[in-house]
Amino acid sequence: MTTPSTPFGNAPVATLEQARVLDRADPLARFRDAFVIEDPDLLYLDGNSLGRLPVRTREHVRHAVDVGWGRDLIRSWSETPSGGDWFDAPARIGDRIGSLIGAAAGQVTVSDSTSVNLFKLAMAALGARPGRSKIVSDTMNFPSDLYVLQGAARAAVPERTLALVPAASGEIEPDLDALDAAIDDSTALVSLSLVTFKSGYLYDAAALTERAHRSGALVLWDLSHAAGAVPLDLDRWNVDLAVGCSYKYLNGGPGAPAFLYVNQVLQPMLESPIWGWFGQTDPFGFGLTYRPVEGVGRFMVGTPPVLSTLAIEPGLELLLEAGMPALRDKSLALGSFLIAAFEARLEPLGFSLGSPRPAERRGSHLSLRHPDARRIGQALREHGVIPDFREPDNLRFGLVPLYTSFEDVWRAVDVLANIVSQGGHERVTHVESIVT
Ligand SMILES: *Cc1c(COP(=O)(O)O)cnc(C)c1O
Repeated sequence: MTTPSTPFGNAPVATLEQARVLDRADPLARFRDAFVIEDPDLLYLDGNSLGRLPVRTREHVRHAVDVGWGRDLIRSWSETPSGGDWFDAPARIGDRIGSLIGAAAGQVTVSDSTSVNLFKLAMAALGARPGRSKIVSDTMNFPSDLYVLQGAARAAVPERTLALVPAASGEIEPDLDALDAAIDDSTALVSLSLVTFKSGYLYDAAALTERAHRSGALVLWDLSHAAGAVPLDLDRWNVDLAVGCSYKYLNGGPGAPAFLYVNQVLQPMLESPIWGWFGQTDPFGFGLTYRPVEGVGRFMVGTPPVLSTLAIEPGLELLLEAGMPALRDKSLALGSFLIAAFEARLEPLGFSLGSPRPAERRGSHLSLRHPDARRIGQALREHGVIPDFREPDNLRFGLVPLYTSFEDVWRAVDVLANIVSQGGHERVTHVESIVT
């Protein structure tokens, strides 16, 4: 629940009038205008999969294209009077991401995709724990992460096993006792998604990190659904390693490169499994032997996607300007409002809550489950509401405090309740297979 100290007061009543009261009380309301909203009638609740385009990003990318690439050409790798400095951009933007996730400078860089970064850091962690045979994760983790961990377990020398702890019944929360039991002296690495992709469950990162350390294991958190969504304090939590996505709550744009965090204490001890020239001490010396740079930069590999990297900056600045505490207050208030609306109008129609109810265990998206969720999702899209669907029965609603309003949430629930109460979804004959 929101606490009385937030601008949103207590226990919301899920009416349109109340939504408007909350929108008027919202100190972040002005940030909505910082985003491109071409179709004001579209209810976009999928910002946890692809964040909206910040208005400033258009100009920022246009400048990088026209001036950086178009005019200054290769000189832009170094600092130029009009910006440039492409070479340092991953570290510079990494440090700004660090400000958002509680990491002091020099521990975060931007590179590759989340999946690739997860592989690099998992392999580095396994290399640092040679005598331990096991990686621990759970079935709430994102499938791509589990594939990467399976591959890392197999590629490591010696080969390791992946112990996959089943979720608690209902698949909404992890089985923390079973996780605790799985972590032991043979565990090299514990890797989980801090906010789970389906139910939006938020682990206690500090407690689990401490638990892993007690057994001598390293921890690698995937922050994809957490960065920009929940307050993070990686340094204070003694986190070892983390990766995360920049096209979700960070609004970096489709395919924007991901980030990775390596605690500075570990940096000298860890080795990237991919030795490339961008992680080398003197990439333009063209020496014949690999010597990794000091610091997190050794986890860079090759030439970064410069335009997509630069596109991350404006969205990130908006988050930093709003501040994580205010973002969290609004995110939880939006979640409480959605839960109240669900109880009033959707539970009677056969929906159940697919996310944790306690605010402190919630990320910034909520899942509502219904046996006919796939067709309902399609009917919603046809009525201008975009959530996403996750197998087998989850409709996922991303509540992005920078641009989601309480009225958006009310309207989406209204459309949803009207569709299902009138059997609109039963007339859906074709479900588009699209990426969501
Ligand atoms: C979105 C997401 C990813 C994305 O990985 P890519 O390599 O960018 O495709 C990875 N892990 C988690 C937990 C995610 O939510």
